[in-house]
Amino acid sequence: MRLILLGAPGAGKGTVAKMLTALDGSVQISTGDILRASVKAGTDLGKQAEAAMKAGELVSDELIMGIMEERLREKDCEPGFLLDGFPRTIPQAVALKNLLERIDISLDGVMNLNVSRDVILDRLTTRRTCVDCGEIYNVRNNPPTTEGQCNSCNGPVVQRDDETEEAITKRLDVFEGQTAPLVGHYQEEGLLVDIEATSSVIAVEAIKKFLKID
Ligand code: AMP
Repeated sequence: MRLILLGAPGAGKGTVAKMLTALDGSVQISTGDILRASVKAGTDLGKQAEAAMKAGELVSDELIMGIMEERLREKDCEPGFLLDGFPRTIPQAVALKNLLERIDISLDGVMNLNVSRDVILDRLTTRRTCVDCGEIYNVRNNPPTTEGQCNSCNGPVVQRDDETEEAITKRLDVFEGQTAPLVGHYQEEGLLVDIEATSSVIAVEAIKKFLKID
């Protein structure tokens, strides 16, 4: 499975990716997770990315391509990968195409996860994340058993800095301006598959059908 998961913040890319990787040996590659880990570890990369992330803006294409050039060459990507949150701009998509050609890999498709803006706003403002292991909760329909504490690792469960209403509105605007044009781009490349993703479970079923997985 070699897929790009395209969709607005909160469209369920991470959830869908986790459900799909459980089906075979593919790995989920989330540039957001890689960046958050770098910020937490205080690396140079983290320091360069932190301000843009907090503001809900994109970090530079150069920084992102530096990460992905390395990541896609790693051995665990050989059985397959699901790109979650990358590419996010046309220059990233063009650079990815060149990179994949260089390492002689082709994509199965670009899954365009469609969810309405209202559903996304509601999902993201009620979402909470474990600082230590990244487990996702929802204050309304999936809260941790003990408030503020992760069920899996006991780490602190918090609202991400970029999931305040202000930052989310900004991220959705950035998505509309810089990432949504990828839909037309991948349509022209013949790779785009539209997926109704109001429910992640139904989205996964549609992707399995496309990939002809039982
Ligand atoms: P995410 O968890 O995918 O929503 O990413 C969180 C934040 O990381 C984004 O709001 C951006 O600031 C940054 N980021 C993640 N992936 C990318 C990317 N492909 N290009 C630029 N910035 C990114």
